[in-house]
Amino acid sequence: MTFVRVALDVPLSRLFDYRADDASAADIGLRAVVPFGSSGKTGLIVGVADTTDQPQDKLKPVEAILRDMPPLPGDWIALCEFCNRYYQHPLGQVMSFALPPMLRKGRLPKSRGKGRGASCKDAREVVRPPLLAEQQVAVEAITSARGFETFLLHGVTGSGKTEVYLRAIDAVLAAGKQALMLVPEIALTPQLEQRVSERFPGAQIVSAHSGVADAARARGFLDALEGRADIVLGTRLSVFMPLPRLALIVVDEEHDASFKQQEGLRYSARDVAVFRAKQLDIPIVLGSATPSLETYQHAISGRYRLLELHHRAVAEAPPEVRTVDTRREKLQDGMSAALIDALAVRLERGEQSLVFLNRRGYAPVLACPACGWVSRCRRCAANMVVHLADQRLRCHHCGLEAGIPKACPDCGNQDIHPFGRGTQRLDAALSERFPQARILRIDRDSASTPKKWQTLLAAIHAGEADILIGTQMLAKGHDFPRLTLVGVVGADAALFAADFRAPERLFAQLMQVGGRSGRHDLPGEVLIQTEHPGHPLYRALVEHDYAAFARTQLDERQMASFPPYSFQALLRAEARDMAQSLAFLAAARAAASPLTGGMVDLYDPVPMRMARLKNLERAQLLVESASRPALQAFLTAWMEQLHALKAPRELRWHLDVDPLEY
Ligand code: ADP
Ligand code: ZN
Ligand code: ZN
Repeated sequence: MTFVRVALDVPLSRLFDYRADDASAADIGLRAVVPFGSSGKTGLIVGVADTTDQPQDKLKPVEAILRDMPPLPGDWIALCEFCNRYYQHPLGQVMSFALPPMLRKGRLPKSRGKGRGASCKDAREVVRPPLLAEQQVAVEAITSARGFETFLLHGVTGSGKTEVYLRAIDAVLAAGKQALMLVPEIALTPQLEQRVSERFPGAQIVSAHSGVADAARARGFLDALEGRADIVLGTRLSVFMPLPRLALIVVDEEHDASFKQQEGLRYSARDVAVFRAKQLDIPIVLGSATPSLETYQHAISGRYRLLELHHRAVAEAPPEVRTVDTRREKLQDGMSAALIDALAVRLERGEQSLVFLNRRGYAPVLACPACGWVSRCRRCAANMVVHLADQRLRCHHCGLEAGIPKACPDCGNQDIHPFGRGTQRLDAALSERFPQARILRIDRDSASTPKKWQTLLAAIHAGEADILIGTQMLAKGHDFPRLTLVGVVGADAALFAADFRAPERLFAQLMQVGGRSGRHDLPGEVLIQTEHPGHPLYRALVEHDYAAFARTQLDERQMASFPPYSFQALLRAEARDMAQSLAFLAAARAAASPLTGGMVDLYDPVPMRMARLKNLERAQLLVESASRPALQAFLTAWMEQLHALKAPRELRWHLDVDPLEY
């Protein structure tokens, strides 16, 4: 008798055997429809055997093996198995996540591509700028890699990193191979897609991100699997694209937090990409102006090869960065005289400015000065944000909305105020101060759909705006030729945040947003308003010295034995009340104690910083080890114990390996 071993999308860390007398080893990697529970399920065949350790007479036959697409290759299955082990996530759920929804459900798109990739035969008149010396060195290093090697391409925005990726991809396509390029945000892919397709007019380029419709996503996946795609360009999920001739992986903006998924399979696409490159014995390029400290530490310790681009490719000089000391100044609507003057100068010259404030809405809270009432969300440990334009209070964590009360709900005081400042309030203030200026606000409210976002971008590029007000949405990857001033307001809060990664994120954000200015022949200026002008983080920004910043941060992390000098995982629990969450974690901790082998530290269960979200009370338990293998072995043993724990029915828990949020 023959059996197939099937991975199913169920929250159980085991495989399911079925009888399948016509199955052979060639069916591994195919989808199978099997009876499960009261109905059927589609899963993936990961093994074919003539024995099974389950009672044979109890095993049901498969309903169908779907042979209408080629099997997923062994390396793809191995990639999923790696995620299963590393992130302690059931294999069937990993595979289900890695497949496009349509294929997951056992269906196929109506039409499919034909033939193999054109591999750029008709490369028309493609313009390739002659490489600068450092670019040349980088391209040569990457293209001459024999087998697995991880490169960190470190260079400020505009230093020509993308040009380096494109040249490396050039070599891959010339050899008839495939390249995979990961980028952080869908918002950025259209520009990059255009640049890539202009460079490789004959190549088949597949884009993969959550904005691609179901059928197109399945088609793209099949184009990759069947070898038609030359280049796959996409967000984190595209790290799971099957590519039989993959020869190069690029991860642009490798430090970006969006590479880490915060739900379900909590994977880091960057880390999975490095594993994949190693598994396939191919080079991988991680690019960034502000590498993550994990990556940078590998680069200075020699594990990764550091390639540096020190100069901007086009603009002569980097922007001049200055701090504006706001301690002794009465700010006008949150803005210093220096910033207001600088804006006025740009308006006069017909140049663009950007004021960066990473807080959307009108004001972060509505408050009553008489009794101390504040607009708290009743479902979360958070305030409801004032959105004056549509007269709503809105919780940015759970989406709860309410009208803006006319008087204090507690004491009836009619004199209640919005406190603090968001982008809408800044917009209002700037409109009043500069009535002649064309002001455009860009945040998740004004750019709520990709279409609105594209319209806003087009307006900026067409020069239809004088002052941009933006959150981090605007910080990334855009090239606005006439932008010469960036003002940063309200950044100090992140300096002293409890999260040890906050400075790293702030530095990256400010570097990125500062990089928006003066990208062509016009010199750029960055003004950072702060009450801590001497802070080392701001000093490093003024000096354009990422390395100095990284060294001080790494020193601090080493002293505290934080990552990258230790490896962490978080067990999180959420329930109706905190006592339940903490009790579960206490039991989990007790179960863990005998398993640590003295190599893993267990912390105490504590409420999460956002202790309440959508009416659930959340707590966490941190585990840490100086040894990655010790942590992995511990987690595997611990997971079994966790599944055996008796938890209240409505309690949810999950494990987050290499967490980014605490
Ligand atoms: P990054 O990815 O580091 O932000 P890009 O590769 O996008 O940098 O380059 C920034 C700008 O410089 C782009 O307009 C690009 O076309 C141009 N550029 C890059 N390399 C060169 C070069 N060697 N010669 C001329 N222009 C270049
Ligand atoms: Zn009141
Ligand atoms: Zn809420």
